[in-house]
Amino acid sequence: MSVVDRPEPGEPGPGQVLVHPEAVGICGSDYHFFSGHLSDAAGGSQFPRVLGHEVGATIAAVGPECRAELSCGQRVAMLPISACGSCYPCSVGHPNACDNFALVGIHTDGGLQELLCLPQEQVFPIQAADGALAALAEPVSVAVHAVHRGRIRPDERVVVLGAGPIGQCVAVVARELGAAVLLVDLQETRLELARALGAETLRWTTAAEVVANGREWGGAGGPPVVVDATGVPAAVRAMVDMAASAGRAVQVGMSTEEAPIRIGSLTEKELDLLGASCCTGEDFAEAVGVVERNADALGRLISHEFVLAQAPEAIRFAMSNPTEVMKVVIRDE
Ligand SMILES: [Zn+2]
Ligand SMILES: [Zn+2]
Repeated sequence: MSVVDRPEPGEPGPGQVLVHPEAVGICGSDYHFFSGHLSDAAGGSQFPRVLGHEVGATIAAVGPECRAELSCGQRVAMLPISACGSCYPCSVGHPNACDNFALVGIHTDGGLQELLCLPQEQVFPIQAADGALAALAEPVSVAVHAVHRGRIRPDERVVVLGAGPIGQCVAVVARELGAAVLLVDLQETRLELARALGAETLRWTTAAEVVANGREWGGAGGPPVVVDATGVPAAVRAMVDMAASAGRAVQVGMSTEEAPIRIGSLTEKELDLLGASCCTGEDFAEAVGVVERNADALGRLISHEFVLAQAPEAIRFAMSNPTEVMKVVIRDE
């Protein structure tokens, strides 16, 4: 990665908004993209590319035919995904799983630049004290979508495997809804943060022990909802083994690996095994509200900050210190 001079994008066209990114969050999918490990189904990695899909920005210019609520200087969060609107997933209300989707920062140039032109549909005004908080709307939107997929209800007990940024965001969203959350992770520092955000915690020891403890915590028959936010095969298997009969298992953690599961867990338990990918526009609008109401809690996820000129260093640091890093943010200055 290098920092280079590029031509300015010019005035926004009809339905477009020019934004100035203030802060960009770095996430696991950026590492996958950067190291060329994105699956072809996700479009693969194409270089050169400006990274950055978790973006908090201010509006620099509003093009003609944009909605009236958008104005210059306003702080906004960016929905990174755009869908074709005509494929099968789009036709059944899953534009986030569109066959032809494009992600800003993966398929088109992203937020790690001084100016970025976006379709107005991908720009959401947000009441946030800081651009870095606005950038958190993106990981929170993934959590909102996962909570919807799991049909989590206020009185339910939910186990979340993996206390990285997405697992923590799932906990915040589920807790705000009124659910009880048990976050599971290998690392004590991550569990400490989870407790500060209102979750109960369990150290990952062995899969068998975690499944037994998770089932006990979940009440008679085990937890009705288990979410995997790791993408690690042993955790995916534990999710399926732990969930209650007639319960839901939600896969959020990305991976190209395979995870063997016991087939009987699906038939005997009649488990709903649900995948979750990115979010819809409605989920994103909800995420903006979650960030506005939980700024203090979510702000604790930001563990390291760099400035734009240090972006290559920031990525290197994040990738080589996975246990130390929660959320790395790159600011405009
Ligand atoms: Zn991300
Ligand atoms: Zn589509």
